[in-house]
Amino acid sequence: MEIILASSNNHKLQEIRKILPKSCILLPMKEVGISDDIEETGSTFHENALIKAQHIYDLTNKSSLADDSGLEVYYLNNEPGVYSARYAGEPSNTENNIDKLLFNLTGIEKRMARFVTVLCFFSEKGSINYFEGEVKGKITFERKGTNGFGYDPVFVPDGYTKTFAEMTDEEKNSTSHRAVALRKFKAFLKLQRNNDKG
Ligand code: IMP
Repeated sequence: MEIILASSNNHKLQEIRKILPKSCILLPMKEVGISDDIEETGSTFHENALIKAQHIYDLTNKSSLADDSGLEVYYLNNEPGVYSARYAGEPSNTENNIDKLLFNLTGIEKRMARFVTVLCFFSEKGSINYFEGEVKGKITFERKGTNGFGYDPVFVPDGYTKTFAEMTDEEKNSTSHRAVALRKFKAFLKLQRNNDKG
């Protein structure tokens, strides 16, 4: 089955591809000729995931999947949240976002945070389903590691001593917010397949 991913984030694409079964062919939207910068005007992860998946579905009438994710830091009243990509302003700049986050947590010991992912899936028939995932952890005092993307160098998941950016893809995928949501999506697809077989 082919699914168009409503994202041009290559890191997300690679993480998702590693988790979905081989029978799911995940096509980046660029590969089907869509290079739109889809505006995320929602105020929740669910709204933004819906906007992105709907945009691709309306253009193609094919199955589409959107991943809207972000980081919530408890001391910062759950900021940056849906603004994670644009925390330090537009255009989105990862290094500036991390600088701003570390600055806003200067001298703060309570650094609890969580990553959230909401997936929105449009089936070819147009039905809509959501899948959520989260991983709790802490923000470090400085960057560590070079793997991954976004806030990975400053996030240590609970139960670990390494940041996501110090982990291999496999390690991150064993615990990440995205992986949790994708496992639910995978189970859903399996159920659908079994129902279709009767
Ligand atoms: P969006 O889902 O494209 O709106 O952007 C989410 C933003 O949240 C990214 O640009 C990153 O800054 C951050 N983010 C989401 N998932 C991750 C992750 O797995 N690691 C690090 N940062 C992430």
